Amino acid sequence: MVKKKSLLIFVLAVLTAAVIFGLFFQFWLDKTKESYLLIDTQPPQTGHFPSPLVATPTLLPPTPTPTLTLEELAAIRKRQFEAVNQRYGPCRYVPVLMYHHVMEAEDAATIGASYLNVPPAVFRAQMDYLWQKGYHVIGLDEMVEGIRNDSLPTKPVVLTFDDGYRDFYDYVYPLLREKGIKATLFVISQFVGGERYLVWAQIKEMVDSGLVLPGNHTLNHPYLTKLTDFQIKDQIFSANNILREHLGRSVHFFAYPYGGINASVEQALKEGSFQGAAVTTNQAPQCLGLPYRFSRIRIGATSLANYGL
Ligand SMILES: [Zn+2]
Repeated sequence: MVKKKSLLIFVLAVLTAAVIFGLFFQFWLDKTKESYLLIDTQPPQTGHFPSPLVATPTLLPPTPTPTLTLEELAAIRKRQFEAVNQRYGPCRYVPVLMYHHVMEAEDAATIGASYLNVPPAVFRAQMDYLWQKGYHVIGLDEMVEGIRNDSLPTKPVVLTFDDGYRDFYDYVYPLLREKGIKATLFVISQFVGGERYLVWAQIKEMVDSGLVLPGNHTLNHPYLTKLTDFQIKDQIFSANNILREHLGRSVHFFAYPYGGINASVEQALKEGSFQGAAVTTNQAPQCLGLPYRFSRIRIGATSLANYGL
């Protein structure tokens, strides 16, 4: 009798444990799905705080090779879009391409930046590809406007360049002029004028041309998620002030260094009335209900066809 009773208790305990585990697993699954859709899943990297003016700020893993087939990408897109548009819409698929350096391969190798580089000839081929495929290159501001008013051109695409390297002036800007296309340049304000970085006169000239939209990429490229609220605001608002002082205009877009984002950072951007901020995830719909989570595709030295474009 006693034996039977303890067996019964044992079975009940096992069942209860299984139910609790199941609930947790479902919860975890939901969280994982959600973060796959919307949140930059790249883990923060530790221990590297570049010093102003000399350091290469972007510590990212090597340029990834796309791993999904185009059919798989299309299926994921469709599923994502329905769910996300309902919750955070209006949403539209607008590929926002993320670049860092555009310089000759040998020069990039010399400074250890090959993994952040797209050689000029490849970059030109990528821009030619966009043209041939009927894409319309628009500014990040035009993307927001276009989603809001439902006035996007067919096949819109946005170009963004992080960190403000000097090679942007040498290789990208001439091509923007030649083709009459726009790009957003996310500037690390305290690094401007440093070795390998643009100088203010170059940035001003490019912004004044109307082809380059300036964006804020903090004062000195820290992991914002490791800072206090006060330091986060300093990194964002002081950088805005410096940009306004040198460029004579306000800046309304932001890019998170290393993709580091949390609630405090988003709150600060909200208080600063930013129109949008770009993360470093792969392609997801751009939603006006999530203006501080505009997704980007990190582009390497290969055909844009490999990124679903
Ligand atoms: Zn950066």
